[in-house]
Amino acid sequence: KFITLEGIDGAGKSTQLAWIVELLQRAELQAVVTREPGGTELGERLRAVLLDKSMTMHAETEALLMFAARREHLDKVIMPALAQGQWVISDRFTDASFAYQGGGRGLDTGKLEILEHWVQGALQPDLTLYFDVPVEVGQQRVSQIKAADRFEKERGDFFQRVRAAYLDRARQFPGRIKIIDSSQSLAEVKAAVEQTLQPLLNH
Ligand code: C5P
Repeated sequence: KFITLEGIDGAGKSTQLAWIVELLQRAELQAVVTREPGGTELGERLRAVLLDKSMTMHAETEALLMFAARREHLDKVIMPALAQGQWVISDRFTDASFAYQGGGRGLDTGKLEILEHWVQGALQPDLTLYFDVPVEVGQQRVSQIKAADRFEKERGDFFQRVRAAYLDRARQFPGRIKIIDSSQSLAEVKAAVEQTLQPLLNH
């Protein structure tokens, strides 16, 4: 099974990723945990470039680098693991490109769909957990936990567009993308994650 986690910065993905790993361990399932941009040696180098605060680049360059990293990630990590029957949990995947480069940067969705088709063919996650929080809540959480990167210097309206694009995607693919209300208490979010994962764990 291929599971992806999405959300604006500060939505609590990392905390829930650890919880998902725990749930899989309890079910005695082998999982590969990975992230985007990143996941491979080349991908991590591209990540460093993409997050570098002193770097400027065209929005299409940003999208192309994200998909270049993804191509490598699929080839070296995701596909081999799935072929071996392992679970793959990825902290972000293609929905992030539609949200950040599409919604946030305003790139044409049609162009992103071409890249999506080119890089992954028909492959889609079996389940995507989208952790939804109001932008102000996310930004407040981020400022407490990590140093600013190239994306976090963006203003609130950027993240409003990212969030709106995520919610659009979730409405477009209701079977695959499940919205988790991440403004709830930690215990409530964990319970919602467990409940959403349950049907997959039982198979
Ligand atoms: O999730 P994580 O904090 O590791 O993501 C790193 C940064 O890359 C975030 O600021 C996220 O907003 C950004 N990003 C992006 N477009 C993507 C994936 C991540 O702008 N497709």
